[in-house]
Amino acid sequence: MWQAEVRIDLDAIRDNVALMRAGTTAEVMAVVKGDGYGHGMLPCARAALAGGATWLGVATLEEGLGLRRAGFEVPVLAWLHSPGMPLHEGVAAGIDLSASTERLVDELVTGARRAERQARVHLKLDTGLSRGGATADEWPSVLEAAAKAQADGDIDVVGVWSHFISSDVPGDETIDHQLAAFADGLAVAERFGITPRYRHIANSAATLTRPDAHYDLVRPGIAVYGLSPVAGQTFGLRPAMTAHARVAQTKRVPAGQGVSYGHTYHTERETTLALVPLGYADGVPRAASNAGPVQLGGKRRTVAGRVCMDQIVVDVGDDDVSAGDVATLFGPGDDGGPTADDWAAVAGTINYEIVTRFGSARVPRHYD
Ligand code: PLP
Repeated sequence: MWQAEVRIDLDAIRDNVALMRAGTTAEVMAVVKGDGYGHGMLPCARAALAGGATWLGVATLEEGLGLRRAGFEVPVLAWLHSPGMPLHEGVAAGIDLSASTERLVDELVTGARRAERQARVHLKLDTGLSRGGATADEWPSVLEAAAKAQADGDIDVVGVWSHFISSDVPGDETIDHQLAAFADGLAVAERFGITPRYRHIANSAATLTRPDAHYDLVRPGIAVYGLSPVAGQTFGLRPAMTAHARVAQTKRVPAGQGVSYGHTYHTERETTLALVPLGYADGVPRAASNAGPVQLGGKRRTVAGRVCMDQIVVDVGDDDVSAGDVATLFGPGDDGGPTADDWAAVAGTINYEIVTRFGSARVPRHYD
């Protein structure tokens, strides 16, 4: 018996990946960082591979090692490394590692020698996001260091890659600019004798809307989990996560009753309040106080008052709702129920944050 749970539909994850796989000649790297965007890294990785993904993508070395410890033998790319990380462990585990500075190339050479194994490296070019990656000015010196390390046999430059700024806004002018900068960066790499087997830049949005950005490998994340990166378009994806809880208590209260901390909600008339045992410790955004949608007793309702750490209150009027009934905060939305997008809209965030926080918090996750 569960009080509150997050349910994950693994078939949806498999099918979402299969849908993207069918739409490209590139290989698919399913991005499973952030504990699979809150859906659980390991079961989601399995489902994504069943759907045709041939790579797994994570941010940290530790996430990559977690995949190897769990027995995943497919190519894994980990892309975010501060100085002094035990990269030799990643090299020894056959994890592909990203490098965007000469310092990191040097660390990978050291890691490769320590692991007594060639490091598999993806060089990252910053095409405008101004996050990780070498700028166009830094790119030649990174390439020079990588070319030397490759000639020495310490590293194998498997990939060259970049990341989009606004591919979630189809037609945004930055997309073409970045694609042009990426093509330039690849041409410069070739001059240094670096012709990688995998060139990659496409996240979910570009995978779904820009076939010209697919190159050899696409890196979808959010779409794997069935959520759309582009407002107003679903692309036939199926959301995999449902968050729901059983009502803990109901009570009748008079008109004018203040509800929850600060009494920011007052009942309009005599009514029934239902207590739903999910709060911000479970990932419910407090910013959705008096706004978050909840499906309960066959109707869509709104959180009454402030979201608390462990609970929310829902005003159900005179409807027949009792303790034990299931209140759904979000799910696939196919029955008209609320979605992670609805919660993101009222909380001033994105669907990514809703599912990632929900799935990574206190609520048990169960898999279908
Ligand atoms: N590639 C990199 C480097 C990322 O950081 C991410 C996620 O932010 C992705 C791919 C997947 O992006 P999305 O979830 O928008 O598909």
